Amino acid sequence: MSTAGVVIVGAGQAGFQVAASLREAGFADPITLLGDEGLPYQRPPLSKAYLAGKTDAAGLCLRPPSYFVEHRITHRSGVTATAIDRRKRRVALSDGSALAYDHLVLATGARNRSLPVPGANLAGVHQLRTLADADALRAARDRANAIAIIGAGFIGLEFAGICAGSGIPVTVIEAADRPMARAVSPETARFFTNAHTRAGIRFAFGAGVSALEGKNGRVAEVQLADGSSIAADLVLVGIGVIPNEDLAEAAGLAVGDGIHTDAVLATSDPGISAVGDCACVPSRFAAGQPVRIESVQNAVDQARCLAARLTGRPTSYAAVPWFWSDQGPHKLQIAGLTRPDDVSVLRPSATGLSVFRFRAGDLTGVETVDRAADHMAARRILGLGLRLSPEQAADATCDLKALATAR
Ligand code: FAD
Ligand code: NAP
Repeated sequence: MSTAGVVIVGAGQAGFQVAASLREAGFADPITLLGDEGLPYQRPPLSKAYLAGKTDAAGLCLRPPSYFVEHRITHRSGVTATAIDRRKRRVALSDGSALAYDHLVLATGARNRSLPVPGANLAGVHQLRTLADADALRAARDRANAIAIIGAGFIGLEFAGICAGSGIPVTVIEAADRPMARAVSPETARFFTNAHTRAGIRFAFGAGVSALEGKNGRVAEVQLADGSSIAADLVLVGIGVIPNEDLAEAAGLAVGDGIHTDAVLATSDPGISAVGDCACVPSRFAAGQPVRIESVQNAVDQARCLAARLTGRPTSYAAVPWFWSDQGPHKLQIAGLTRPDDVSVLRPSATGLSVFRFRAGDLTGVETVDRAADHMAARRILGLGLRLSPEQAADATCDLKALATAR
């Protein structure tokens, strides 16, 4: 490789990990990590400990500034990559400069979907993706008299969990008939609906938002499609994300719900790879179909897989998808890739919940609440491709850990 080395666009979880794993693997050429935010930081605490005031901004950083110096990683913050010249292997930057690359990594993540209704830009309407968003939301929550959360996904429910018990009315408005409808089974959705309801959160399911109404430029109520309204001086919109694929698309790379890659994370240009929230990658957990996954595990494992290839150890990306969500006192953990129509098998348990999901008799995924041991065993079973029958999953006397470690 010549001296231009690897240029990584996007200094989030995935971009940072590519740089770190390259150095761990002994990569000696230059590494430039550029991003439009500051030092790489973790997003999960933004809707958990950071929002609850239990950790500060320094506690979110993936590494201190000295790490980048010691590991000869040139970190350029506050700069946006605006265009890729694939023929000349150069990236144009928002400060007017350009950077040459030998290999380019796109780790551009995703941005929040905006609410397409009148009033969505009123003061008091928030979203949550960045540290700056979390600071603004935290300050607004401390002043709020009534909170409406649009979207019963992970952001909405984690924020609801933090607001519960504050004495302020909190209403979650969701278009589907249950929370996290695409991500979890009806059984897990019911568990969390009940838990949040017991904690005082109100839900409006099957509800379309038609407008946000304001008073003196600030949001005052959410109007629903059925004509009813919900008073709120703080509205959090958490209705999913859109992958940042525009840069790749403009450069003529294959895109469509993310930047398309092959199994080794190369885009349609072998000199450019993509990882993390922005990448759409064939998965053995989806019968080889391309999937885009939004999780820390996915960002970290794809980054490690790519770093291995760039240092001469190519492997197909095959890690088991897993992730977690902290909602109120409960920890949800998910392993595998399921579809809403997969069959649920409940594993009897005195506390929490374990739901094993099957398609045509094959285990596709496991959702657990406060049952870490079941999660870990199931993750291993999925990763090794071991056989677990619905009958074994439903039998509390069947030792999952023993089964998972049998070979
Ligand atoms: P990002 O972290 O989004 O990083 C991409 C970076 O690239 C961003 O800084 C972006 O601004 C920058 N960028 C984009 N385009 C350009 C450009 N042209 N030039 C320069 N820079 C650019 N996952 C879990 O598994 N568990 C959790 O509990 C969890 N909680 C979460 C809580 C919140 C509030 C959020 C927002 C996400 C959470 N996630 C969680 C998801 C997880 O954080 C993401 O999947 C992960 O951050 C993806 O990493 P990434 O590097 O692909 O993208
Ligand atoms: P999300 O988990 O995709 O959930 C969005 C929810 O909003 C979905 O239930 C969606 O329903 C619903 N919705 C969509 N349009 C709507 C509308 N107009 N009105 C009402 N509801 C609507 O996304 P998110 O909660 O916004 O999170 C954003 C990102 O942060 C994701 O990448 C997520 O993975 C990440 N995150 C992860 C965690 C975690 O893993 N613990 C925590 C926080 C954030 P449909 O599915 O039917 O569209």
